[in-house]
Amino acid sequence: MKRYSVFAIAREAMRQHSGWDKAWASPEPKTHYDVVIVGAGGHGLATAYYLGKNFGITNVAIIEKGWLGGGNTGRNTTIIRSNYLQDPSAAIYEKARSLYETLSQDLNYNVMFSPRGVMMLAQTEHEIRGYKRTAMANALQGVETRFITPAEVKRIVPIMNIDGPRYPVLGALWQPRGGTARHDAVAWGYARACSAMGMHVIQNCEVIGVESVGGQVSAVATTKGTIGCTKLGIVVAGHSGHLANMAGFRLPVESVALQAMVSEPIKPAMDCVVMANTVHGYMSQSDKGEMVIGGGADHFNNYTQRGSWMHIEETVRALIETFPMLSRLKMLRQWGGIVDMTGDRSPIISKTPLGNTFINCGWGTGGFKAIPGSGWAMAELMAKGASPLAEEFSMYRFREGRFIDESVAAGVAH
Ligand SMILES: Cc1cc2nc3c(=O)[nH]c(=O)nc-3n(C[C@H](O)[C@H](O)[C@H](O)COP(=O)(O)OP(=O)(O)OC[C@H]3O[C@@H](n4cnc5c(N)ncnc54)[C@H](O)[C@@H]3O)c2cc1C
Repeated sequence: MKRYSVFAIAREAMRQHSGWDKAWASPEPKTHYDVVIVGAGGHGLATAYYLGKNFGITNVAIIEKGWLGGGNTGRNTTIIRSNYLQDPSAAIYEKARSLYETLSQDLNYNVMFSPRGVMMLAQTEHEIRGYKRTAMANALQGVETRFITPAEVKRIVPIMNIDGPRYPVLGALWQPRGGTARHDAVAWGYARACSAMGMHVIQNCEVIGVESVGGQVSAVATTKGTIGCTKLGIVVAGHSGHLANMAGFRLPVESVALQAMVSEPIKPAMDCVVMANTVHGYMSQSDKGEMVIGGGADHFNNYTQRGSWMHIEETVRALIETFPMLSRLKMLRQWGGIVDMTGDRSPIISKTPLGNTFINCGWGTGGFKAIPGSGWAMAELMAKGASPLAEEFSMYRFREGRFIDESVAAGVAH
């Protein structure tokens, strides 16, 4: 694979860009791989990448029923932060955030990581207490956050109305090195790096069954035939329940649609991410100028991967007191993704009852930010049988009552 560099761009500019390689190959599946990963979203691709990079395991196939990054990875609002309350969460999200800092260099692919700052507004007394507590927990965890005053909020985001009659801004939890990245680029960058290591990214190939011999996984049945594997990683977000069913076990997750929208593009108006969790809305501005807006998940289980009118109204109504300028903006388009929610709003990175089969799911409304850390931990778990980052996120915690309660940090806040 040719490296992307300023010299390569200059060279190709001289010859009508005729010399670029395809970013990744599209091979036919082999009959057997050491590792098969189901799901070419960010988490599946990152798992494969770190299997190769950290453990030298490259006889790997990543199998995707649609196109790579076409699930939640290409549908989210790209917020990256690590200001979680519980220690295991802060550890894995901060690992991910710190990997994002140098991901473009690592992958030789511009993922457009933009550490522009993430602000979580406190609009009730309860939130002030909660965020002050989180800031203190973060200090102990080595995560850089602080609680800021309404005046500081206004200085950072001048378009905000901090004196709303119903929900005035009383302060905010501020993470200066949180931010955003280009979601497609994260999937594409990992896919290109995996392909360069000789791994097979197989698109348009749905897994329809899991086969086993003597309690150990042996193959997956797919729409392109049976593909043997020594180890299997299931990384399919909102479809985790289906895959678990194929592998013969049940998961404590529910699938719901989560929606977002963008406005028409406007001149630069806000250069950080703002989340207003009490009123159920959040917003950032894309490089194109669109206001990227999201809210809470649908209140009922479903697999409808699309937006709804009700959601536009609900979310914009929630934000308009704090951002009056929204009343003048046209909404351009909306969409939805199917996210997988656990009861404690924390993910699952775990061995499963089927031998040599591992699952990574339950990221719910907030897994984009975790992609590098999650892939790192899942790869270690699959290669070595244990990972310090993944230890607390076993699926068996629900049976044993060891919940990692992040319902405040992750309910609406993505
Ligand atoms: C509207 C919205 C906003 C969000 N905002 C944020 C945010 O701001 N910040 C944040 O951190 N997170 C956010 N998220 C959550 C985040 O997008 C997800 O947690 C994350 O992308 C999950 O990645 P993944 O790789 O696990 O899943 P996905 O990207 O969904 O990948 C799973 C893949 O598995 C494939 N698959 C499923 N079944 C099969 C099968 N049988 N065979 C083969 N392939 C299969 C799917 O086609 C899919 O491509 C948001 C999500 C949505 C929908």
